[in-house]
Amino acid sequence: MPRPCARSRSDRPVPSLERWVYFFGGGRADGSAAMRDILGGKGAGLAEMANLGLPVPPGFTISAKLCLAYLETGTFPDGLHEEVDRHLKHLEQETKKKFGDPANPLLVSVRSGAAVSMPGMMETILNLGLNDETVQGLIAGSKNPRFAYDSYRRFVQMYGDVVFDLGKDPFEEVLGEVKRRRKAQRDIDLPADELKALTYEFKSIIQAKRGIPFPDDAMAQLWGAIEAVFRSWNTRRAVDYRRVHGIPDDMGTAVNVVAMVYGNLGDDSGTGVAFTRDSRTGENVLNGDFLANAQGEDVVSGARTPEPLAKMTRGKLAKVYRELERIAAKLERHFTDVQDIEFTFERGQLYMLQTRRAQRTGLAAVRIAVEMVQEGLITEDEAVQRVPPEDLNQIFHPMVDPRAAVTVVARGLPASPGAATGEAVFEADEAAALAQQGRDVILVRPETSPEDFHGIVAARAVLTARGGMTSHAAIVARGMGKTCVVGAQDIEVDAAAGRFRANGRVVKRGQVITVDGTTGRVLLGAARLVEPKAGAHYAKLMSWADARRRLRVRANADTPQDARRGRELGAEGIGLCRTEHMFFEGDRITAMREMIVAPDETGRRRALAKLLPMQRTDFEGIFEEMTGYPVTIRLLDPPLHEFLPHTREEVAALAKVMKLSAANLQRLVDSLVEANPMLGHRGCRLGITYPEITEMQARAIFEAACSVVAGGKKVVVEVMIPLVAHVEELRRQAEIVRRVAQEVFLAQGRAVPYAVGTMIELPRAALTADAIAREAEFFSFGTNDLTQTTFGLSRDDAGRFLPFYVERGILQDDPFQVLDQEGVGKLIELAVRLGRGARNDLKIGICGEHGGEPSSVKFCHHAGMNYVSCSPFRVPIARLAAAQAALEEAGVINRTKATV
Ligand code: PEP
Ligand code: MG
Repeated sequence: MPRPCARSRSDRPVPSLERWVYFFGGGRADGSAAMRDILGGKGAGLAEMANLGLPVPPGFTISAKLCLAYLETGTFPDGLHEEVDRHLKHLEQETKKKFGDPANPLLVSVRSGAAVSMPGMMETILNLGLNDETVQGLIAGSKNPRFAYDSYRRFVQMYGDVVFDLGKDPFEEVLGEVKRRRKAQRDIDLPADELKALTYEFKSIIQAKRGIPFPDDAMAQLWGAIEAVFRSWNTRRAVDYRRVHGIPDDMGTAVNVVAMVYGNLGDDSGTGVAFTRDSRTGENVLNGDFLANAQGEDVVSGARTPEPLAKMTRGKLAKVYRELERIAAKLERHFTDVQDIEFTFERGQLYMLQTRRAQRTGLAAVRIAVEMVQEGLITEDEAVQRVPPEDLNQIFHPMVDPRAAVTVVARGLPASPGAATGEAVFEADEAAALAQQGRDVILVRPETSPEDFHGIVAARAVLTARGGMTSHAAIVARGMGKTCVVGAQDIEVDAAAGRFRANGRVVKRGQVITVDGTTGRVLLGAARLVEPKAGAHYAKLMSWADARRRLRVRANADTPQDARRGRELGAEGIGLCRTEHMFFEGDRITAMREMIVAPDETGRRRALAKLLPMQRTDFEGIFEEMTGYPVTIRLLDPPLHEFLPHTREEVAALAKVMKLSAANLQRLVDSLVEANPMLGHRGCRLGITYPEITEMQARAIFEAACSVVAGGKKVVVEVMIPLVAHVEELRRQAEIVRRVAQEVFLAQGRAVPYAVGTMIELPRAALTADAIAREAEFFSFGTNDLTQTTFGLSRDDAGRFLPFYVERGILQDDPFQVLDQEGVGKLIELAVRLGRGARNDLKIGICGEHGGEPSSVKFCHHAGMNYVSCSPFRVPIARLAAAQAALEEAGVINRTKATV
């Protein structure tokens, strides 16, 4: 329940710091961009702009340091009210207006702003200070009653939403009704008397729903707003946003109280958002959206579709545009990064309301970093540090095959690139629920608001009927690298009925559509998608990264196709070839099953003889693709139940091949069922009990290697023994591999360089790594199993409860995605130390999923590994993360000066 008139109580005093409030305006500021922790991004940006002498309306920022204490205790420290009063006086002097004065009222905006940008996540209240008396002063001063009542009704509307926590709907419904009755297209078409009536109606909605009258006293309004902004730190959407973007919960938001400037004073007034470069493509061109005769919220909320900034270049706004261009260039140079700027112009006078580091797509991040080096703005090191490795993922986003025949149902603005296909859904909750079931969904909304955030997270793509390139949906989706089309004006969304109409067609809930965020098209059905090719900027950035990294990067690849893709993406070898994956194809599974259920060695050898040539051909293909680079082939590893026939039909088919009765075979199958297969008869335990499997695989590997070498290519083989717990297991398996290698080399009359090593994926292996290293020529950390066995957490079952752990903050991250450096990492460091102590040239890598996750890659660098190996698509991410780790280690300071 909001308490708009609450004053601080001193019964539970919050420890007082020296200063809580910071002024800016009149060409100077108490703070600066360096004080983001205290001022929040918005406050720091305003202070820095004031210090630069840019036209910023004066105001003050209340420290973010108060936020958490206020949320905990509900009180403010002693003296805060006096400090705010003092700054308000200062603001009155600066603006020559008076807060709450009926003749010449000072109005302010009250806005949140955390140290890290959370676009659209928090709160804004404009025109605060209006009541029935001060509105008369505004009319007298502006000679524009329509403007004054428009400002008043906006204020009451925002206050009702934010402070009284009523949301937008009750007000939008009434507004929509009035516009329909008046046949007004836009809010600005409503006359003053209608806006006045709306203001009173809004007040009575608040009174009816909350049982509290709307506060008329300007000071009471101000404190209600300040408290609401602090409370907004903990709204669901803000909490969700922080979780998705890994923003800590303990920063809090600052509160900015700024003298109003008015974009809704007529056609020579307006408001907009500008980006100093294109945040989708990175092109160096000032761009953005603006709306004439409007206030800031109209642009970002998507309630009206704004005009492109380029339209300001001609006509009566050209002068404002030139000024904007000059300031934008200055800000970009000052911060040496692309800026996202909010501005308002009041009767031709431009004001800057915010500047912050612009969010951007991966494609844009790369181009901007490279071009800024070429322009002499930043160094190559900075360019490498500046692109978040995970962003490279977006560069390889699929796109609609340009040659495919498609049915375009609508077109909108291409807000965030890539293409995605899924079922149309119309509510965020539904999107989240269906995605949870593994369904691909496209969230279709008239426009999105921060309440839809969880739906955007869950959806494959977002489509909105309204809104511009800087609307909520556009910014949020782009920040996540999620495909998004906004402002598709042809579509008419009826969310309640679960359908949209577009150009004579109807698309209902559940129907499959494709959203093409690169071109802005909305397509019927599932279009064929293809992978794009990365361009010259990407190649340049990666060349800088490669020159700086020490870690080698390999791919996990089981097929020649994966190997080729890995090479294309810069892999310098294969770190893990899982041989078992080769046995699922076609009729191979039958031979494999035959081998597994064979009751004796003769039966197994018969089946293995069928598998040998298949396996040899696979290896040849992989060696060919990876010529000159090391290829680590892991011997058979998985729990056998993965290969057993499960259905009655599968048992019958296998029985026929094996010339057994189905009943007999079923008995054999049943005898192989394990209670806990993950810790059962798998890994090297298979080769220990059935050495003929190891023999066959070693033979296939070395015969393939010899034949590729005979073709004139270089092959570097690494044979890897999985799931070793005791050195004796490794010793016995290595013996077989080496014996078979000699036999093959003798028979073929040529030798191929090879090494035998092991995976470290059990705690006992890590703890006895010195003994193991005496037998192993290399280690590869299998952090999937090592995480499973260190936590005692089943990989297959963790999905049921791990998300809960992460949601509740018991674990910061899912340890199967982000390496648990404190626990699993400690075992890795120990094993590296023990291993290298026993064998100083021990080659060490990682091949668990963590090998492609940036923070884990950095850990691997610092742990002294030689390489990381990950899925082919993550190879570029690992290359960049490895370079960043090397720069960090070399002490190159990341100078990226962000204003957020
Ligand atoms: C591992 O355990 O980390 C690993 C790479 O092996 P797999 O995932 O195949 O068990
Ligand atoms: Mg494993």
